[in-house]
Amino acid sequence: MINLYKEKNECCGCSACASICPTQAITMEPDEDGFFFPVVNNSKCIRCRMCLKTCHFRDTKIKGNRPLAAFAAINKDETVLKNSSSGGAFSALASIVLEMGGVVFGCAFNERMEPNHIGIDNFFDIEKLQGSKYVQSKINNTFIEAKRLLDQGRIVLYSGTPCQIAGLKSYLGREYNNLLTVDLICHGVPSESFFKDYISWLEKKNKWKIITYKFRDKGKVNMGYSGKVIYIKKNGKIGERTIYWPLDCYYYYFLNGDICRMSCYECKYASNYRQGDFTLGDYWGVKKIHPEVNTQNGVSLLLINTETAMGYVDKLSNYLKLVNSDFEQAKKYNGQLNHPVPKSEKREMIFKTWHTGGYTAVANEFYFKNRKMIVVNQVKIVMLQIIKKIIKILKMFGT
Ligand SMILES: Cc1cc2nc3c(=O)[nH]c(=O)nc-3n(C[C@H](O)[C@H](O)[C@H](O)COP(=O)(O)OP(=O)(O)OC[C@H]3O[C@@H](n4cnc5c(N)ncnc54)[C@H](O)[C@@H]3O)c2cc1C
Repeated sequence: MINLYKEKNECCGCSACASICPTQAITMEPDEDGFFFPVVNNSKCIRCRMCLKTCHFRDTKIKGNRPLAAFAAINKDETVLKNSSSGGAFSALASIVLEMGGVVFGCAFNERMEPNHIGIDNFFDIEKLQGSKYVQSKINNTFIEAKRLLDQGRIVLYSGTPCQIAGLKSYLGREYNNLLTVDLICHGVPSESFFKDYISWLEKKNKWKIITYKFRDKGKVNMGYSGKVIYIKKNGKIGERTIYWPLDCYYYYFLNGDICRMSCYECKYASNYRQGDFTLGDYWGVKKIHPEVNTQNGVSLLLINTETAMGYVDKLSNYLKLVNSDFEQAKKYNGQLNHPVPKSEKREMIFKTWHTGGYTAVANEFYFKNRKMIVVNQVKIVMLQIIKKIIKILKMFGT
């Protein structure tokens, strides 16, 4: 019998083992908390141990590159910038690769609001990959598809969390000159079914059918993080609502690190050693390091980790305003470049509540236990909205 992991924290769910299996004996199945784990079908398994050899996560040694250069990056296209989570650096990279006739892999929501990795080969589809989905994405057969394209000589850009990029490289087992990889600075991932239950709860409570859920929306009051839901009401009318992070029972738990996969709390990739040719994240602290940078619509921290990536900096500057920065400074403000998100004491209680009372119980508990914090933040938001309106009126009268 092949044992791919003993404890849950030993598997990051990257799917490298399932992708490498020559007899397709491994499938990724959700556990009771909704996190995907490999399950071996013993009647199909030929005990070649390829899965074990490909597992990069259990190996305690960390391979990776320390960044060679760091930039504050802002997309020059206002629309692209507004649709991106931070500074729109990802779209710039995707555009360069598509211009060269390549294929770009990344995470997109499907119509059931499930995050899946897909490959795109045209500019119209970039928007599917844009924006952070704070839920673990399923790799499906994209490692296999990327390898097929690489073997044909196509240029491939593969983006994902650091463990997904390490998984891809381990699955490929060799270097490819036509492969570019992007890893994200990663806080950790919640499970698909927890997220879907949250969506169903929102729909039931409000009598909506949710069409789009965007985690990062730059339209409304700037509270650091806020998202947007677009929905249809029973009468067919389409509406939208802003999701303010401190007031939302999913967003708050995600940002607090309360609902992550167990492996995320011990992730060896949350470090200075990066898995991708490029690393992208939010440039926290940019105002302190580069006070001249306009932060209004988000700024990406773009790390250049390999000589290959260095060769793309000129091309990137066609799409991005790039400000030369310093990795040692930047990493001081971004926890997950130094250590994994700390394990939360609330995690067990939240999952227990979910299993016994469903998502309604999770939400009720959140709103009851955090009522003071919620009132304070509601007042803050109203004040910010009023200030914004006053500024708008003053601008209209030219003062
Ligand atoms: C789960 C998660 C946790 C993160 N945690 C942090 C953090 O702690 N600190 C920090 O600085 N930045 C974090 N980020 C990165 C940040 O949110 C932005 O994604 C990043 O700055 C790139 O933004 P952008 O404007 O360049 O491009 P965008 O267009 O916003 O980014 C799109 C890119 O994100 C990828 N992506 C989106 N969702 C997922 C997913 N679920 N799994 C894998 N890839 C995905 C897409 O494939 C694409 O490559 C996190 C992202 C995710 C998805």
